Amino acid sequence: MIHHDLIVVGGGLSGLRAAIEAKMAGIDVAVLSQVHPARSHSAAAQGGINAALGNHPNGADDSWERHAFDTTKGGDFLGDQDAIVQMAKDAIPCIFEMDHWGCPFSRFEDGRIAQRPFGGAGFPRTCYGADKTGHYLLHTLVEQAYRLQVKFYVEQYVTELIVHEGLCQGVVAYDMIRGGFEAFTANAVVVATGGYGRIYSNSTNAIINTGSGMAMAYRAGVPLKDMEFVQFHPTGLRTTNILMSEAARGEGAYLVNGLGERFMERYAPKFMELAPRDITARSIQTEINEGRGINGEPYIYLDIRHLGAEKILERLPGIRDLAIHFEGVDAIEAPIPIVPSQHYSMGGIDTNMNGATIMPGLFAAGECACVSVHGRIGLGGNSLLETIVFGRRAGAEVIRFFADLREKRPNARTAFAAVEKVENTMKTLADRPATVDAYALRTEMTVLMKEHFFLFRDEPTMKAGLDKLADIKDRVSKIGLRWTGSIFNVDMIRTYELEGMIDVALTVAQGALVRQESRGSHYRTDYSTRDDANWLKHTLAFYQAGVSGPRLDFKPVTLGTFELEERKY
Ligand SMILES: Cc1cc2nc3c(=O)[nH]c(=O)nc-3n(C[C@H](O)[C@H](O)[C@H](O)COP(=O)(O)OP(=O)(O)OC[C@H]3O[C@@H](n4cnc5c(N)ncnc54)[C@H](O)[C@@H]3O)c2cc1C
Repeated sequence: MIHHDLIVVGGGLSGLRAAIEAKMAGIDVAVLSQVHPARSHSAAAQGGINAALGNHPNGADDSWERHAFDTTKGGDFLGDQDAIVQMAKDAIPCIFEMDHWGCPFSRFEDGRIAQRPFGGAGFPRTCYGADKTGHYLLHTLVEQAYRLQVKFYVEQYVTELIVHEGLCQGVVAYDMIRGGFEAFTANAVVVATGGYGRIYSNSTNAIINTGSGMAMAYRAGVPLKDMEFVQFHPTGLRTTNILMSEAARGEGAYLVNGLGERFMERYAPKFMELAPRDITARSIQTEINEGRGINGEPYIYLDIRHLGAEKILERLPGIRDLAIHFEGVDAIEAPIPIVPSQHYSMGGIDTNMNGATIMPGLFAAGECACVSVHGRIGLGGNSLLETIVFGRRAGAEVIRFFADLREKRPNARTAFAAVEKVENTMKTLADRPATVDAYALRTEMTVLMKEHFFLFRDEPTMKAGLDKLADIKDRVSKIGLRWTGSIFNVDMIRTYELEGMIDVALTVAQGALVRQESRGSHYRTDYSTRDDANWLKHTLAFYQAGVSGPRLDFKPVTLGTFELEERKY
């Protein structure tokens, strides 16, 4: 058994920022991560991070108020306005802090941090480092965490939370390097495990983004919020769904259909290619569905040729490389074939704006959490911002929590029992003859999510999808391991986490079926308008043992700063 005052699960931007905040206050903090922190999905973020710095010549009048308004409207008014205002205010000092810690942001001629336009924003307010912003931010925080001597346990896969009498007191982890399971006890845990993208077969996310942290909290009794809101990015590469960042359109890229038309004129004449992601993604899909894909095939083009080689090489080198390596297309010479792809998890572990959950001692931050600031469609550049702003706030909240905490001794018996339970689960997986193949089942589930819960939703399709999911959940009890070794058993991890993925998928599916309106990314062909009278509320999904889907409940949205209006672009 290993003890630290604070355990942070996840070494992405949100986990590191929380750990740094706590460590700076003298707290004994350890970060557990299934990959080296610098390999977290945050490193894949390309386009940038929003803050109303007002550095762009066309953005001098920008302000946190405008940033907060764009975010609220972008989220179709389902974001909590107090949290959004806080994020827009905190954004400015957070960016300067990252700058001072050495993040190599791109610069304007006068030396100020450069900003580019992004979808749904009234001003060019997205700060960036070429098209490798996440990589730069993440390495900056990794350096700071090392400088402060935050303790890292790398290649540790966390399987569950340790909960004693309603308090979160640590986690159980599989040590991939040495083999075996260990209890890490703590007085508080911050879950910062990122998104669940991989429950869809067509995701831009890393293989490890399976929503494991959400599943852990959910099974421990903490609700997941607004799970039906899934962001689909307009531009993933046709064959792999690898992201072609919005930075491309921010720099002036065109979207072109099989007839050679810049079709966004029909859908968002003012914003064109820079309309918010949900609108752009649905427009692309409509072109495809109506037979105007390239040569009638289900994809369209992202064209940046007119930007010229010099600008492409300076501002979008990463995108060009990805298109060359994964699609065989040099974007300087040819348009890039793209399709809409699952990209971001707006829903997540229900937290307040300080990262606290309903379970004392359990906090969450980043993409795995739902604060909620994104409402129903996260604006590009706000997700990176969320990780840093709310990672920091979660760290600060842990400091306050510790100041009030009387009993500081996690219960050892509960911790040992938790380890034993996980060991028994793994033994069952290893011993039973696998009559159902875990990987085939996983593919069946991820394809189903794409087919039944994608950009356009309707009741019969979703009901059929839910039935199939329930059937998949039944069959999960028949999967087993292909390999039973103890060292680096990735087969065991992927097999074990499948049930959690199915549980998370069920919260998405159930929430989507119940919400009879269209709002942001959740678009229903059978209820095609927003319905504030009945649906201006958050969905909460509670785990029910022994039942395939969640119990749903609702809670009000925090309003009060901005008036409701129709979301038009
Ligand atoms: C391709 C791509 C491009 C993007 N571009 C942008 C952009 O330009 N601007 C923007 O604002 N947003 C962007 N986003 C979104 C943004 O990058 C993410 O929302 C954000 O980085 C998530 O950070 P995080 O710290 O919450 O999680 P992650 O960075 O995903 O980190 C999760 C961490 O948790 C660990 N972990 C997970 N499960 C376990 C477990 N069971 N046990 C132990 N450790 C575990 C992982 O090892 C990892 O360290 C992009 C996302 C993608 C996929």
